[in-house]
Amino acid sequence: MPQKRVNNTTFTFCDTAQSLSAVAANIRGSSTVFLDCEGHDLGLAAGGLSLISLGTPTPNQPRTYLIDAVALGTSELRPIFDILESPNVQKVVFDGRMDQTALFYDHGRVRLQNVVDLQLADIKSRVLRGENEGSLEQLMRLSPYLLQSEVEKNPQLYYKVQKLPGLEQTVREHGVAVGAEELTIKGRFKHTSWLRRPLPQTALIYAANDITLIAHLWEEFVDQGYIDGKLGEQSLRYVRLWTTGPQINVNHRYKLHALLPLEILEDTSAVERTKLCPLCERLLPQRCFSITSWNKDVNRKCLVCRAIGIRIIKQNAGGHRSAK
Ligand SMILES: [Zn+2]
Repeated sequence: MPQKRVNNTTFTFCDTAQSLSAVAANIRGSSTVFLDCEGHDLGLAAGGLSLISLGTPTPNQPRTYLIDAVALGTSELRPIFDILESPNVQKVVFDGRMDQTALFYDHGRVRLQNVVDLQLADIKSRVLRGENEGSLEQLMRLSPYLLQSEVEKNPQLYYKVQKLPGLEQTVREHGVAVGAEELTIKGRFKHTSWLRRPLPQTALIYAANDITLIAHLWEEFVDQGYIDGKLGEQSLRYVRLWTTGPQINVNHRYKLHALLPLEILEDTSAVERTKLCPLCERLLPQRCFSITSWNKDVNRKCLVCRAIGIRIIKQNAGGHRSAK
């Protein structure tokens, strides 16, 4: 199946059952598949999945397939879901939480297996790059998202709080060589237009570029030894975070934010006493709370929800402006 070339970007667009079976046959033989989904409010209760972008590694650019999840229904997409659910094919994602949530709620409870999340790999690599928990570098990443004066006032309450990076930021930070075009295309496409058909060419390029960025980042992380043996288990815990209970609402500020939820990277095999953080609705052990908060019966907040709560108060007071 020929790949379509637009500017510097090459991809195959697939919106029929026939072309889908050819794509599935191509991908099935690959032990690694890059995955990224696009949609309107992707993964959220009122949202919708638009494209499933897949790529397979090649020596230069990945082979990229953009699958139309509006034109093709759940049963037609099944050959692709079989690959996503296969334990034998490694899926490489960058913050796969909303991708997994959309596939789960919008398409008959598809559950990704064998996942490597490069956003987590980046956060783990910070320690390997000399940025330990509680170090100045770790705390510096938190502002301006969190108010610097607040972090400086109670630094010990932020030692476990990690700022999530974006895909482009991560690509730049690791010095991954990609074309300027791949990095500048981001942000040019309005996310509200994802469910419109036909999709504009800019949307397809945008989606294909994300696969290119993920592919190059994955190569770099493999070379650097950042894909370790625990990453698979941690990635599954991360991407499945919001697939229990009712689907997240667009206004859920304690789930939709730019901080890493607690206890994703930690070893959770030991049996420990946990308490509920009613804001993020997770059961968490004592290390995730301040001493005061752990001992409270009401208004308990984990360290991440505490930080987000302060950010919301500051935003409402108009004293702190930044995106998301
Ligand atoms: Zn919480």
